[in-house]
Order: sequence, then structure tokens, then C-alpha cells
Amino acid sequence: MANGRRVPVVDHDSQNFWDHLRQGRLSIPRCSACGLYIYYPRSICPRCFSNVLTWVELSGKGTVYSYTVCYRSSDEYWATKLPYVVALIEVENNVRMLSYIDVEPSRMYIGMPVIIRFTPAEGTVFPDFVPISDVFNVE
Ligand SMILES: [Zn+2]
Repeated sequence: MANGRRVPVVDHDSQNFWDHLRQGRLSIPRCSACGLYIYYPRSICPRCFSNVLTWVELSGKGTVYSYTVCYRSSDEYWATKLPYVVALIEVENNVRMLSYIDVEPSRMYIGMPVIIRFTPAEGTVFPDFVPISDVFNVE
């Protein structure tokens, strides 16, 4: 646990992803054979099964594809955040990430522009998102 928040289990496939987050970068593997951007990180392309992958950096900007507001949690950490938003975020290159968005639930809408917020906690960094208007004062 990190500040009460569960720490991810890092394996061979996701090591670079978490290392890059600690450096303030969002990156994922891209298949060198067919060009597919791969998320969640894997060591083999799910489309063409090539194992020749290259890590590419993303901007960290995206739009909300869908979301839910959580009103209950059995997890001690998340129970203190109720109600909170979990969203499917469309980032670049048809990649969708499921993530926590630090926002008042009543502000949420489909298509909301968001940006990554690197949230450090005891040796790891979580890829949380916030409304881009909270960072740049624009919509
Ligand atoms: Zn491929």
C-alpha cells in the first residue's frame, strides 16, 4: 500500500510503463511490425503476435469516452474518496485507458478533455487524470 492506495504489481511487461511514469512520462509499447499501439503493456502484439515492440511516449492528453461515479467501495483508501469518478479515457492512437479522474462528479460529461496527472506515492507514480480546464484554464 502507498498512502493507503494499492500499489500495482509490476511485471516484465509493465516495468517500462511504471518506470517511465516515475520519470514523468506516459509511454506504451507500439508494434514494430503492424504499428498497433498496445495498452495495457504486453510483450507480444495482440494483433499480429510480433514480439518486436518499441516504447513510444504519449502526450497524456485525452477525452472521456465513458465514465462512472463510484458511491461505494470496500477498499479503505477509495472509501475516503467517495463519491469518485473512474473513466475510460481515449488518448492518442485509439488507445483507451481506464483511470481515476480527480474531479467533482457533477462536472463530468462524455467528451471532457482531460490530461494526465502524475501522482507520486511511496515509490510509484499513478497515472491519474484531471480536467484539462483545471490545468490550463481552457475547455
Ligand atoms: Zn503487431
